[in-house]
Amino acid sequence: MAEIALKSLAHSYLSNPESPGDYAIREMNHVWQQGGAYALLGPSGCGKSTLLNIISGLLEPSSGDVLFDGERVNALPPELRNIAQVFQFPVVYDTMTVYDNLAFPLRNVKTPEDRVHERVMEVADALELTSQLKRKAKNLTADEKQKVSMGRGLVRDDVSAILFDEPLTVIDPHLKWKLRRKLKEIHQRFEITMVYVTHDQLEASTFADKIAVMYEGQVVQFGTPRELFEAPNHTFVGYFIGSPGMNFLEVSLRDGHVVSGTTELAVGREFADALGEIRSTNVKLGIRPEFIEVHDAHVEGSMVADIIHAQDLGTYSILYLRLGDTTLKARIEEEQPTPSGKAYLRFPGKWIGLYVDEFRVEIAS
Ligand code: ADP
Ligand code: MG
Repeated sequence: MAEIALKSLAHSYLSNPESPGDYAIREMNHVWQQGGAYALLGPSGCGKSTLLNIISGLLEPSSGDVLFDGERVNALPPELRNIAQVFQFPVVYDTMTVYDNLAFPLRNVKTPEDRVHERVMEVADALELTSQLKRKAKNLTADEKQKVSMGRGLVRDDVSAILFDEPLTVIDPHLKWKLRRKLKEIHQRFEITMVYVTHDQLEASTFADKIAVMYEGQVVQFGTPRELFEAPNHTFVGYFIGSPGMNFLEVSLRDGHVVSGTTELAVGREFADALGEIRSTNVKLGIRPEFIEVHDAHVEGSMVADIIHAQDLGTYSILYLRLGDTTLKARIEEEQPTPSGKAYLRFPGKWIGLYVDEFRVEIAS
């Protein structure tokens, strides 16, 4: 078991990369601590598989180092890195039985046969494959094959880490939920470092204690699901996490007042002061739909907005609002009265973020 550190890591599939866009991984530093349950979350094409393949040794990075417990492993081939990797599509030996497929990684490292038996039975039980052990892998359904594939990743308890690359893509939705629970149980039982790649925020937050959000070849935030929700470090995290995503309003100062377009925003002095320090022209105020206070009558410090549309989602509603020249979404709970026509909004200081060139900056209070 190991801590995995990535130091000044970058990778391009091109032989002569020039601009940042030529890199699948843009220079980054990151540490996966020993024993953690992590998710690597990001949209398709952001570099998740590239990063996993660099960790497991299938791919050599263009620059930077991969360290396991402080030791540089760049030159080590995958089989010497002691890492298990489970891919999106099943990797099984069709002509072997399920039992032999599961036993393979253990026999490969000369594990005594009684121990092989013990582990195969344990993993088969966890993945509900016990009744299938004698079947040839080629006769299995796609779901079952992927379970075998996962079992092969889980069967050795002496690996440094297990990397899962969107392993549940081919799995039936009913089973998905169950398998994710199983993985979590297995993690708790063996305390192996696990990195679980997904593009699904729900999957990430049900599996992981900490999530690395990846965007355009960079980890833009590494935090608990709650941290990602409450204080997104990058506008992308704001959009990607939460449903609907965070509201962002382009803001600037006019005569000492914070404005978005031509509309003056009622926000605290601290925000205006922080804005005054900024030289970039790419400046946004971010606030989540959940954190906008919605009133049906004027209250101290509120801004009046037009309600364009209210979407009733059962236990809550999403209001689509127009505030001056920008549109906003706000969430109100079912017990809250839904205003009609106009709504009076407040942006609590605690829940507004200032984003400069897409990254969040601290507001001194
Ligand atoms: P993800 O797993 O997040 O979907 P990938 O790591 O597969 O992303 O891909 C990151 C970027 O690198 C994408 O732009 C993709 O097109 C590119 N890429 C991936 N694999 C290769 C490859 N073998 N050769 C060239 N480009 C690749
Ligand atoms: Mg991928």
